[in-house]
Amino acid sequence: MKEKRIGIMGGTFDPIHYGHLVIAEAAWYAFALEKVIFIPTGSPPHKRNNHATAAEQRAEMAGLAIASNPHFVLSKIEVERQGFSYSVDTVSAINQQYHGAAAIYFITGADAVLEIDTWHKPEQLLSLCRFVAATRPGFDLSRLDKLPSAWRDKIDLLESPGLDISSTDIRQRVHDGRPIKYLLPESVEEYIYQHQLYGKA
Ligand code: NAP
Repeated sequence: MKEKRIGIMGGTFDPIHYGHLVIAEAAWYAFALEKVIFIPTGSPPHKRNNHATAAEQRAEMAGLAIASNPHFVLSKIEVERQGFSYSVDTVSAINQQYHGAAAIYFITGADAVLEIDTWHKPEQLLSLCRFVAATRPGFDLSRLDKLPSAWRDKIDLLESPGLDISSTDIRQRVHDGRPIKYLLPESVEEYIYQHQLYGKA
């Protein structure tokens, strides 16, 4: 059995918020992870038609958000990669960094995990890591039964109340001029206003 356990927190993070941070900390504790690597998506294949905030800015916000946590680190591996970013390539690269000696836990939202059959090379991806699917309290677990049992066996669930905060809601609030205080770190809030993100000066 691999001794070292590493978490990968993959997401668009547009913007990162306390929901993400609470989940990453809960996963770090629950799965005895050595660290959690936050990996903002670069050019996500599943959002070809969307105009997300520049990857570099999403990464800067993630860096600000995790700065005070010694077991959280930022990786810009997807931001710096040319072309579409596939999780299978990211996990392979992290695996190589650890010379195959670390067990990798890919942490993301349960809704994203439910779509895993649409991801690039899902079989290969699931052979490289376990998944931690963050759910809201009351999430209908039977939704995961539609996945093949061999895949389901590689998915651990992590219930988190923090998921009631959403990036979509935060962007809408900024656009509408409504407050976002206490939904995300102050440093990220300041960054959003300074860089006039989400359509509100
Ligand atoms: P998304 O569709 O934007 O988000 C789906 C849901 O999950 C949203 O409610 C989102 O909340 C939440 N979420 C996103 N990241 C989370 C995290 N790390 N922990 C907990 N909840 C999270 O999903 P996404 O952010 O674009 O993608 C999630 C990950 O899946 C990324 O690493 C992405 O690269 C990977 N992915 C890979 C492929 C592929 O390789 N082909 C395809 C799809 C997704 P918020 O909006 O509040 O964040």
